[in-house]
Amino acid sequence: MNRDGSLPIPSYGHGTFIVDSPNVVYTDSEIKTKYTYRTTSVIQDNHGMLVATPKETVYDFRVERRVGRIGMMLVGWGGNNGTTVTAGIIANRRNLVWDTREGLRAANYYGSVVMASTIKLGTDSTTGKDINVPFHELLPMVHPNDLIIGGWDLSGMDLAAAMDRAAVLEPTLKNQVRKEMAKMKPLPSVYYPDFIAANQEDRADNVIPGSKASTAHVEQIRKNIRDFKTEHSLDKVIVQWTASTERYASIIPGVNDTAENLLKSISAGHEEVAPSTIFAVASILENAPFINGSPQNTFVPGAIELATQHSAFVGGDDFKSGQTKMKSALVDFLISAGIKLTSIASYNHLGNNDGKNLSSHNQFRSKEISKSNVVDDMVAANTVLYREGEKPDHTVVIKYMPAVGDNKRALDEYYAEIFLGGHQTISLFNVCEDSLLAAPLIIDLVVVAEMMTRIQWKSHVAFANADPNGDKDQGYRGFHSVLSILSYMLKAPLTPPGTPVVNALAKQRAAIANIFRACVGLEPEADIGLEHKLL
Ligand code: NAD
Repeated sequence: MNRDGSLPIPSYGHGTFIVDSPNVVYTDSEIKTKYTYRTTSVIQDNHGMLVATPKETVYDFRVERRVGRIGMMLVGWGGNNGTTVTAGIIANRRNLVWDTREGLRAANYYGSVVMASTIKLGTDSTTGKDINVPFHELLPMVHPNDLIIGGWDLSGMDLAAAMDRAAVLEPTLKNQVRKEMAKMKPLPSVYYPDFIAANQEDRADNVIPGSKASTAHVEQIRKNIRDFKTEHSLDKVIVQWTASTERYASIIPGVNDTAENLLKSISAGHEEVAPSTIFAVASILENAPFINGSPQNTFVPGAIELATQHSAFVGGDDFKSGQTKMKSALVDFLISAGIKLTSIASYNHLGNNDGKNLSSHNQFRSKEISKSNVVDDMVAANTVLYREGEKPDHTVVIKYMPAVGDNKRALDEYYAEIFLGGHQTISLFNVCEDSLLAAPLIIDLVVVAEMMTRIQWKSHVAFANADPNGDKDQGYRGFHSVLSILSYMLKAPLTPPGTPVVNALAKQRAAIANIFRACVGLEPEADIGLEHKLL
């Protein structure tokens, strides 16, 4: 697929490979596959014996090949993440090179799993060597350089001045993007002071009138999305919350428990409706995928119900950039190695505006909750090490330390029990250049969410039972509104109601890779490697 959405020559493949299989059909507009999903179904028999039965389900997938023009609208555009991701995309688009005290540096997408990692396609038929392709080439995905960027911020500062305020990028890079960024000005936003720290008040000079929820606010945000789409001739807009962490909203029956009640509460100006929920509702009603990069409970049950009713995509919560990313890899390693992790102590100090906002108790509490449950699935899965309900002790501390700016320090101690009562203690000191870690995640979330808007599926059984003379394309639908495929990039992954949360990092990556592989008719990468073992 060419970047402008046109098809390459020859027109059957995209990127650097094609799949040669009777189950895969390339047309000018679509890739269609018949895919057999193999799982294992388990029941417990009358004697308490677990009976595992291999199970096969056949699905048809259909991928729209034309990417189109895609807009990314960020809430909190003038913040550290917003300005960094914008400057980063401009730098990549223009292939910028800048001087630093360590020598020349060139624009790249390091830290983006989509743009900077590869995936094994298969093994070379003659040499047996692995053949890897860039992740980005697995399916026809939007290139981040082509994203049209816009958004909202409580602070009306243009993006060039906001980039200076953020103090993240080298002056030599800033100077090259300054002119373009100075022309970018965030749209006024919704400000309900009770939801973010009082210390943020002095930057709120760009607000839509009204300090509590209203239908007018939803309508204004919807109009902003529509206008942005028209102004830039966009096919789709993805909205992402990278604004300040809000306090939790109380879940109150009759207020935000159902879609209907939530809409009523918005029109009644209820004080438990957060600005982020206003953005979520507006995006859902505009069918623009909405992703929440902060820890608060934007997706109250009523918002999830509304998204499901409108088949609109939502994803969240809280970017998983530094400390938690390490945690979800390291804890997976320890527990799958049979080592009994008994405590995790996590300390952070940071000096950016996010840290300032989090120095207020209610906002810290949102972060604490989001950071606290990230090992639960790994612990619960190991019934050899942990009794039912048993968990390692886990504490999270965050302190505001202006001097370190955006270079957050994350100090973690992992304490574990090993063979015969021994102990293993792992101490980590992780300096996370926070916004430089978060910006590529913002890109991955947009690219993957956009991709999901062009993938449809149907169950083969349902199709087989359908009228054989009927429309062969009938019955296709999208994935569930709650995009749990985004879990890799998120600290407290949102999943469809009643479905399990997966925190283990490797599993989360495998889910994206293997779903995308399925869409081009390829088996999951199982790492069995029999071709190298049965010789
Ligand atoms: P920041 O404080 O620099 O930027 C947030 C921006 O949001 C500010 O410019 C602020 O004016 C704006 N804002 C606040 N409320 C708003 C509203 N209602 N509407 C529009 N704009 C609003 O913070 P940041 O470092 O860019 O981080 C953004 C968010 O991402 C934070 O909630 C943070 O917790 C979350 N997050 C960041 C990282 C990371 O940077 N590595 C990781 C995980 C989560």
